[in-house]
Amino acid sequence: MSDLQPESPKHPVHPPLCGQCGYDLTGLRIEMPCPECGRPIMQGRDLRGPSGRAWLSMVVTVLAAALMPCTFGIGSFVVGIVAIVLAVKADERARIGLAPLADIGMCMATVTMATLVVIASVLLLLYIIAVMHW
Ligand SMILES: [Zn+2]
Repeated sequence: MSDLQPESPKHPVHPPLCGQCGYDLTGLRIEMPCPECGRPIMQGRDLRGPSGRAWLSMVVTVLAAALMPCTFGIGSFVVGIVAIVLAVKADERARIGLAPLADIGMCMATVTMATLVVIASVLLLLYIIAVMHW
């Protein structure tokens, strides 16, 4: 059991470094300048594509939309909420430097779509309830 290591904090494989002075920017918000040289962090961040977490929230959103015709909107409502939570968490990770910047834009789009799915689900559910009680 000696190869069991204590759980290490979640750091990216390549920590975000300041493009000017090489300072480790992990945990710093992109709105702030580099604490070492003052260069805006946004300029020093990598521009890789969206991470798996951002894609997951997007896929869950599509799943929520696909569930709309069945389960009277309840399934799409629940899955839509899950998608919003996933997207907000992924967005936060990108803002503190644990995920690519591309996640932020993708998560904003995902939150928007998932919110629309949730609203549509509620309307569908209300409509069904109204029809059933007519
Ligand atoms: Zn710097």
